[in-house]
Amino acid sequence: MSIAERAERIREGSTSPFRGPGQPCPIALIMSQMTEEDIETLERELWRPHTDRGRLTAPELTQILEEEGYTLSKIAVERHRRQECRCFKRRSQEPSTS
Ligand SMILES: [Zn+2]
Repeated sequence: MSIAERAERIREGSTSPFRGPGQPCPIALIMSQMTEEDIETLERELWRPHTDRGRLTAPELTQILEEEGYTLSKIAVERHRRQECRCFKRRSQEPSTS
């Protein structure tokens, strides 16, 4: 990464690898408040394949996170899982309405 890119990242307030333009999505936001261990667990649960019988649904994941004190909607989980949230938007694309 060049100095110019690093400077740009700081200007954008980017500290997470999950950043697209603008504010982070609710999932990225709560991950920024989590321990590394919790982030790893959450990522593992998020990216389980559909064929995995242990895969949790978005409402189930949402419930677990709410019980841990995080506020989010299952829509946010679904969008992040489908990679339709801000984390996965390319700079050239307009952010979709949320
Ligand atoms: Zn996201």
